[in-house]
Amino acid sequence: MATPLAPVLQSRHIAHSIPGPRSRELQEHRDSQVTSAFGAALSVFIDRAEGGILQDVDGNRIIDFASGIAVTSVGATNAFVQAHVAAQLDRFTHTCFMVTEYEGFTEVCRWLNAHTPGTFDKRTALFSTGAEAVENAIKIARTFTGRPNVLVFDEAYHGRSLLTMAMTAKEKPYKQGFGPFPEQIFRAPNAAPLRWPSGAENAAAEALAAVEAILAENGPETFAAMVIEPIQGEGGFLVPAEGFLAGLRAIADAHGIVFVMDEIQAGMGRTGTLFASESEGVVADLIITAKALGGGLPLSAVTGRTELLNAVPSGGLGGTYAGNPLACAAALGVFEAFADGSLLANAAAIESISRSHLEPLLDSVPVVAEVRGRGAMLAVEFADPGTLAPRPDVAKAVAAACHAAGVLVLVCGTFGNVIRLLPPLVIGTELLEDGLQVLTAAIEEQGAAA
Ligand code: PMP
Repeated sequence: MATPLAPVLQSRHIAHSIPGPRSRELQEHRDSQVTSAFGAALSVFIDRAEGGILQDVDGNRIIDFASGIAVTSVGATNAFVQAHVAAQLDRFTHTCFMVTEYEGFTEVCRWLNAHTPGTFDKRTALFSTGAEAVENAIKIARTFTGRPNVLVFDEAYHGRSLLTMAMTAKEKPYKQGFGPFPEQIFRAPNAAPLRWPSGAENAAAEALAAVEAILAENGPETFAAMVIEPIQGEGGFLVPAEGFLAGLRAIADAHGIVFVMDEIQAGMGRTGTLFASESEGVVADLIITAKALGGGLPLSAVTGRTELLNAVPSGGLGGTYAGNPLACAAALGVFEAFADGSLLANAAAIESISRSHLEPLLDSVPVVAEVRGRGAMLAVEFADPGTLAPRPDVAKAVAAACHAAGVLVLVCGTFGNVIRLLPPLVIGTELLEDGLQVLTAAIEEQGAAA
């Protein structure tokens, strides 16, 4: 039996430069073998990950403000997840749920039916990736309504498969050269307050009017679904103006359109409630989860009204790996990790600590245009004061400075001018504060140079 590993020290440490010599060596080998079409936010090779730390092959300990893009919310070595997965690993790795069934799949569905917003009768379908779940939500909505069209929003990100690329807004690098795309996708403005032309106070009402206009122009009775992220992720951590999501809900109801909430990035406790849409009390017909749901193993889900989930004839949904037993076991561990409410409280604490570091920058650094987000899903946008001309150069320089100092942050946004923070919910306060100090110093320095 392997000797148990010593805990990963929960402190930032730079043993070598980042990337260090071993990472550089591995990168060279990687480049000789792996497609160059995969980019990397930071070219270091990870040996271990635990709590708020990524430990690389050179012994650097990097503060993790990414969680593998909002996946390892309960930590990359969560004891509940490990126990469930280890027990499942002993029993079997796979049968294919469409061939012979297993209880873990049902248990994951039961938890999602019970915990997602909405008191109506629900069913759940499990898949592997976020994009796959989004595609299946559309299949369900089209079957149920008998309608073809799908409404999505500016700045949306829904995945990299052909249909979800069509639903995703940003051209480069997600869509460029990959068309033609499926048709029947219509895009409406998103009520993002910062850049709303007539002012933030008008964003919700005017964006809702634009949605109504698009529906009227194309015939509201042709729309199967509208799909929105409660807080947009890749698009820039855009929190919609208050009332927008509720207004969309009302429009969907008025026209018999299935209202689909893509909670893949914002859901599963990230924003301080189990689901981000809870904060405004908006209840979707279908809710999509992935990322943190599987605690690091690939798992995604579509949960919603029974009449919707049961509209597709038997055999119409599925997939070889859909709801894989190990991934279901991991999810059961994730649910246990959330059971006592402490991780949700951590998300709220992460927000208040982070805001206390970041909000003063709004006054001291002119290119800091906005600090926004909710819970442990927070972002800083860089733009020229007054004109709001995006400053991707500043975001890039800040990220580079953080990376060199051992703090992993990710850039996002349509213009690439947003730094986003997605720390694991188990990150310790000292580590969080240390990472934030590095980040604020980088913003002050790069902001002064801008
Ligand atoms: N929707 C949202 C909101 C996402 O953030 C992502 C992933 N970043 C996806 C869909 C696609 O998920 P996946 O990469 O697992 O296919």
